This record gives sequence, structure tokens and C-alpha cells, in this order.
Amino acid sequence: MNDEEYKIYIDDIIRRVESARVKFSEYQIIKIVAISKYSTTKEIEKLYRIGQRAFGENKVQDLRAKSSELEDLPLEWHFVGNLQKNKINNLLDINPALFHGLDSLELAHELQKKLEAREMTLEALLQINSAKEESKHGVIPEDAVAIYNQIKKECPNIHLRGVMSIGAHSDNRAVVKKSFETTYDIYKQLDGATICSMGMSGDFELAIECGSNMVRLGSIMFNK
Ligand SMILES: *Cc1c(COP(=O)(O)O)cnc(C)c1O
Repeated sequence: MNDEEYKIYIDDIIRRVESARVKFSEYQIIKIVAISKYSTTKEIEKLYRIGQRAFGENKVQDLRAKSSELEDLPLEWHFVGNLQKNKINNLLDINPALFHGLDSLELAHELQKKLEAREMTLEALLQINSAKEESKHGVIPEDAVAIYNQIKKECPNIHLRGVMSIGAHSDNRAVVKKSFETTYDIYKQLDGATICSMGMSGDFELAIECGSNMVRLGSIMFNK
């Protein structure tokens, strides 16, 4: 696709976001984060040329490589992956706009120590394992509000902005919907939270209809 064809392709995705958005609320504002983990820096530049600014990666080393290669562009980089303790310093060196995968109190305490030593802060979302799946990271729904509040209290250098969740892995739409509703319900209970990050290429319309205001779109944005 040339830039013009690509723009038409992306406009169609934006129309789909828009029609899901108004089903939830006409006052809702949705942000699309383009997840570039399957894509090259050339492909990121192409999407940038037609207006996309927020990009995300799920591996610290890929985030580092791509953000540094594209450092001349005014991009906003998100980290959406699982963060191992031995990679904390590498992530903080990159200073991402938002870390979506804060998934335990223990990781929050480790982050807090490093952030304090560096005199820096980090914007983050608490990851919820909304369908309690073995294969997924995140806190279980029953503990989420308490852990969120505890991190807010004990980790002043982490600026919690809300929650992130990956929809249930199921072909049953009702099961996926339930997992989004669970996360949205937690989000509504959090004081001052403004970001509810849920929805990927296969389920973003449903996520938006359930109240998501940040979708993480990978394969569909890059037409893979
Ligand atoms: C890969 C990834 C996405 C995007 O997935 P697609 O299905 O390609 O849209 C979103 N969120 C996270 C956490 C991911 O790892």
C-alpha cells in the first residue's frame, strides 16, 4: 500500500473505533496505541506519516532499539509487556510515556526503589488478570482495588493512571465481554484513574463498548 491507500485503510479502523465509541458514550475519548512489535521501523515511519504518534512494544530490548532508531521523530512510546526485575533499569533508561504492565505489589516496590534513586517518576497502569487465566500476568480482580491503593500510598514515584487488561482468550463473545466488564468495574472504583487500557486487534470494538478509552492495536494497524 502507498501512503494514500494506507490512510484510507487506517481511516476505516478509526471509523470502527468511532462507532463503538458512540455506543458507549458520545463524550468518551479513545486513544489508539499502535503496537509495533511485529513491525519494522520503516513501517512505524509510514504509520507516523499518516498521523499516528503513540506506539508500543512488549519487549524492553525492542522498545530500546526502535525508540532510539526513531529518536528524531516526536513519537510517544508505551511499554505494554511483562517487566522482569532485571530489566527495570533498561526500561527506566528509555523513560516511556506509559508502562501498561505493572502486575504486582512486589514489582511496584522494586520500581519505586529504582525510581527514587534516579529521582524520576513513571506513569503506569495496574494490569488486571480479569478472567483469572493461568497464562496471563496481572492481579486478580478481587485484590485489584486494594493493591492499586497500596501502590499509590507506598510508591510515590509511580504515578498510577488506571488499569490495563487483555481480553479473555475465548471464542465466546459473552466470556470476553465479561472480562472487559470486570476490568471496567474495577476502573470505576479507582480514585482519580483516567485510563482504561483494553482491546486489541480482535476485540477492540467490544472493549470500547465496555468502556475502554485506550486500545492497543498491533496486527490490524500494520495490516498484518
Ligand atoms: C501484542 C500485544 C497487543 C496487540 O496485539 P494485536 O492482536 O496484534 O492487536 C496488545 N497488547 C499487548 C499487551 C500485546 O502484547
